[in-house]
Amino acid sequence: MDIGKIFENNKEWISKHLDLDDHYFDDLSKGQSPEILYIGCSDSRVTAEEMMGARPGEVFVHRNIANVVPNNDLNVLSVINYAVKHLKVKHVVVCGHYYCGGIKAAMEPNDLGILNPWLRNIRDVYRIHKDELNAIDDEESRYKRLVELNVLEQCINLYKVTEVHQAFDEGKVTIHGWVFDIKTGKLIDQKLDFEKIGKGLFDIYFTKEA
Ligand SMILES: [Zn+2]
Repeated sequence: MDIGKIFENNKEWISKHLDLDDHYFDDLSKGQSPEILYIGCSDSRVTAEEMMGARPGEVFVHRNIANVVPNNDLNVLSVINYAVKHLKVKHVVVCGHYYCGGIKAAMEPNDLGILNPWLRNIRDVYRIHKDELNAIDDEESRYKRLVELNVLEQCINLYKVTEVHQAFDEGKVTIHGWVFDIKTGKLIDQKLDFEKIGKGLFDIYFTKEA
């Protein structure tokens, strides 16, 4: 893409919106109240708003390599805190995608420098699910399954964030795990049951009173 063309595109985009609504940008500047927090991959092929048909103001977005929610990443935790506590979003989505370079890199034993600690989050997902993954002979299928399991584990990490599980338990927020298939353009809901998954987590962490 020609970088100079971007400013021409921007002018066209402004006129297109103003032709339909004179107050479009004035209205946008008044504030935001998105109902969805979307956590997805930085991959240039997975365009968050475009594939969802969402307009500006509708989705609060965070993207990083392989849609990871580490419990020591101030960036993602700040986004989650702001979205849940202040914007009061109703839905939090973790969206992975097939043919993800970050997932692929995590499956290979290469030294990738500064990326190593980041990819370790995904390598841990592999370790947790190694029996299931190692039983899949076909490499592409194993890679796709790791994409799905990474979404599951990142949703669990999301649930463990205090403000998220409090809002979830109060019925204010729902958690969704999705996968985008680049080959077909389809967005697939993994239909994760957090009523069940969440209860299981607390069984591990807390001893129930007799
Ligand atoms: Zn990716």
